[in-house]
Amino acid sequence: MFKKFLDAIGNLFKSLFGGGTDPQPKPKPKPNDPITDIPQDGSEITPDTIIIVADETENVIIKPDEKDIEFDDDLGVDENIPSTIPDDNNSSGDSGTDGSDNEEEGGSGGPVEGEVPQGRFLWCLDNGHGQFTKGKRSPVFDDGVTQFLEYEFNRDIVRRIMAQLDEHGISYYNVVPEVEVDDFLRERVDRANAKKSELPKLFISVHSNAASARSSKHWASASISGIETWYFHNSKKGRKVASIFQKHLVDQTGLKNRHLKSRPESQFYVLRKTKMTAVLTENGFYNNEVEAAKLMTDEMRQKIADAHVVAILEIEKNGI
Ligand SMILES: [Zn+2]
Repeated sequence: MFKKFLDAIGNLFKSLFGGGTDPQPKPKPKPNDPITDIPQDGSEITPDTIIIVADETENVIIKPDEKDIEFDDDLGVDENIPSTIPDDNNSSGDSGTDGSDNEEEGGSGGPVEGEVPQGRFLWCLDNGHGQFTKGKRSPVFDDGVTQFLEYEFNRDIVRRIMAQLDEHGISYYNVVPEVEVDDFLRERVDRANAKKSELPKLFISVHSNAASARSSKHWASASISGIETWYFHNSKKGRKVASIFQKHLVDQTGLKNRHLKSRPESQFYVLRKTKMTAVLTENGFYNNEVEAAKLMTDEMRQKIADAHVVAILEIEKNGI
């Protein structure tokens, strides 16, 4: 335990000051790797977990040819491609901005087929959970009916992001357009890894958070609130991307700043298994009654989506 504590302190310093140690290779996915014990998001973190908190305002300097812990390591396509990957022949920029049927549409958006792709990256947008994911919903509000459903929120934010990226001509890939799915964790990652792209890929997983509460029917403490962004531990590129998202999310929403987070052990599945720089945004706490009410509003959802888009535009402009 004491060694863990020392390691955590050491990692904290490395995390804060850049650390000079060689990056550890990212574990490669195995076809039958059990995923049940790998957390999906911030709400699944147990209190005894070591979490490294980093300051998003600190500059992360990456030299032009610097090799990161991930991203450059293994861009090969996973041979274990699942059969559920949707037909991606609709990569003609028709992912649509006109609303209602967006959730059923998949594939890529942005530049029209045949044109040279614009921008620097293909943004793999991940909506985190499906309709059949267990839990991931708030207690029922006082009206006896209203409930925050995380899969719906995540999809709404991603839909709003895609609509704006269409306008900017920025390439994206809606990783899981289907609604009626479970966690779908492995497929999310395999699809993003298998997605063919002339542009380097970045993976953004959009979530909302939950604090521990007496039960899923009880609201958590009102003192726990705000936004945090997670990155793959020791990934400088991940931390840099996360810092840009966190900065804009806090600026646009005015919600509490919970900074950047990473875990030396048992990292989130989508951060650990993706073969590209990946971050996970936790946009407010849906089991904080006051914050959940804000997250239900069109205004707050648009602010959250806008912040993601501003972050994407900044990274498109400056690179990482
Ligand atoms: Zn989640």
